[in-house]
Amino acid sequence: MDQKAPVSRPKVKPCPICARPTEPAWKPFCSKRCADADLANWLKGAYAVPVVEDNAAPDRDAGSAAER
Ligand SMILES: [Zn+2]
Repeated sequence: MDQKAPVSRPKVKPCPICARPTEPAWKPFCSKRCADADLANWLKGAYAVPVVEDNAAPDRDAGSAAER
């Protein structure tokens, strides 16, 4: 008489990379590939420095520069 929760299927979170069902071996990813991909993204994000792209002065700005 124990009321079990209506768990018919354990919800499997999809792989955050490709949205495929995850593999227990590669949680929370579906494969090493996606795990690596996520790691790479993470590393990129971690190392992402607000790089100021050397933006050469726009040409159109040269003319109206004096008009400040
Ligand atoms: Zn995946």
